[in-house]
Amino acid sequence: MAELASPLIETRTSTVIDLVGVTKTYTSGSIEFEALRGVDLRIEQGEYVAVMGPSGSGKSTLMNILGCLDTLTRGTYHLAGEDVGELDEIDLADIRNRRIGFVFQQFNLLPALSAWRNVELPLVYGRVHAGVRRDRAAAALSRVGLADRLDNRPGELSGGQQQRVAVARALVGEPALLLADEPTGNLDSTSTHDVLSLFDELHAQGRTIVLITHEADVAERAERIVRVHDGLIVSDGAR
Ligand code: ADP
Ligand code: MG
Repeated sequence: MAELASPLIETRTSTVIDLVGVTKTYTSGSIEFEALRGVDLRIEQGEYVAVMGPSGSGKSTLMNILGCLDTLTRGTYHLAGEDVGELDEIDLADIRNRRIGFVFQQFNLLPALSAWRNVELPLVYGRVHAGVRRDRAAAALSRVGLADRLDNRPGELSGGQQQRVAVARALVGEPALLLADEPTGNLDSTSTHDVLSLFDELHAQGRTIVLITHEADVAERAERIVRVHDGLIVSDGAR
C-alpha cells in the first residue's frame, strides 16, 4: 500500500498553482466589471511560464490573485496544495511571505538600506535569527552575481543590478513560486538580457517561475506561454 501511495503524494505536491473556474468581479458603485471570467490554470513545480496579453486583459488581476494580494470572487485556488480561498488576511500575508517571491517592474527596494539589508527583509518578517539572515542574504546575492555588492545601496547600483537584488530578495526565503510582473519593463537592453539570463539559470535549477509581460521577446524565454484576453485564457501551450 505504501508503495502505491507515494507516487500519488508526489503528484499532488508537485503542483504549485491550481486555479479552477476563477472569476474576479470589481465593483465600483453600482457598476460591476468581471476582470477574470472563469480561469483554469495549473502550473507544475519547475515550470517557467509567461503570461501575455494586451493592456486591460486581466494580467495584473491574475497576478494579484496568484500572489495572494487579492481574493477571487468565484472558483478555487490551491497554492502548493493549500486552499487559499479559505484563508483570512493574516494567513494570506503569511502564505505570501513563505511561498512567493515577488519581482516588480519598479524593483521596490528600500533606498536607505544596503543590498543585503534589502535582501534579508523577508526573513525579518519570517522571524529568522539575525546571524542566519545575513548569511542567507549574502548567499542569495552571490547566487545572482552580486557577491561584491552586499554593502551598496540601491542608488549605487545600475538598474539591472537593482533588479538582481530584487530577485535575490525574492529567492532568499526559498519560495515555491517566483512571480515577476514586467520585471524588465524599466531596464535597458543589456540589463534586460542580464535579468532574463538569470531567470534562465533559475529555471535550469528547478525554480517555478511565472513571468507576466506584454513583450513577445521576453515571453519567448519561457517554455510555456499563457495568453490572456478579456479575462479569459485564450491559449496555453509550449512555445
Ligand atoms: P492588465 O494588467 O492586463 O492591463 P488588469 O488586470 O489591470 O489588466 O485589468 C483588467 C480589467 O479590469 C481592466 O478593464 C481594468 O480596467 C479593470 N480593473 C482592474 N482593476 C480594477 C479595479 N480595482 N476596479 C475596477 N476595475 C478594475
Ligand atoms: Mg497590468
